[in-house]
Amino acid sequence: MERVLSEGIIYKISKYADNSAIASAYTYDYGKIKLFISKAFSSKGGVQTFIPGEIDFLKKDTSELNKFYTFRPDTLYMEYASTPAISLRLSLYFDIFDKFYELEQSDTVIWTILKKYKISDYSKINLFSIYALLTNTGHMFNFNACSNCGNKIIEQGALNNGLYFCKKCAPDNSFLTESYVNTILRAFSNQELYKNMKISKYDELSVLDLFVYHIENITGSFLKSYKLFKELILTI
Ligand SMILES: [Zn+2]
Repeated sequence: MERVLSEGIIYKISKYADNSAIASAYTYDYGKIKLFISKAFSSKGGVQTFIPGEIDFLKKDTSELNKFYTFRPDTLYMEYASTPAISLRLSLYFDIFDKFYELEQSDTVIWTILKKYKISDYSKINLFSIYALLTNTGHMFNFNACSNCGNKIIEQGALNNGLYFCKKCAPDNSFLTESYVNTILRAFSNQELYKNMKISKYDELSVLDLFVYHIENITGSFLKSYKLFKELILTI
């Protein structure tokens, strides 16, 4: 057992009993962790979610549940929690994160990406963060060439059970994409293209539809937060 301090973000708090709660957090040093918070809902406002900061906790060796001491939000990122355009996207992102990461599975790239919401190109950062998550956990499908004939996919593509096909080879019941979705996907692996790309909220939703279809397909479970995300993101 050791008292440690790590940069991180708390993304979920579930009430436990009385005033206590169990929180889920992503930390730079330890990846995904669970925390027991004995006074989670104090009159002073409680523990803040969706703000990057420093988490002070007692790391247990014998239990998955670590003891929480304090969270110090980084003042540079205070607006994350009060900006729905950011907090809605982080909420969706961590819903996906929870499905793919085991406790203490390390990934320091996430920390770098989280800080990029400061730049305000929200749609682009959201898509890139989910793309990076799928790539870094080995779940991104190969969108560069058709899984059947090997041709480069320029126009419409079709996703089916984790495989991407050209329109000609698409099996029945595939998820069909528009050509601009392919352009956006290609930009993720091409710095110059990515830098110059403008992505609207509607483009973002088209690519997210594809990602969510893929995620639900490979995990076999429904991504509950996405329907609400779609409704809310268009109202802000
Ligand atoms: Zn083909």
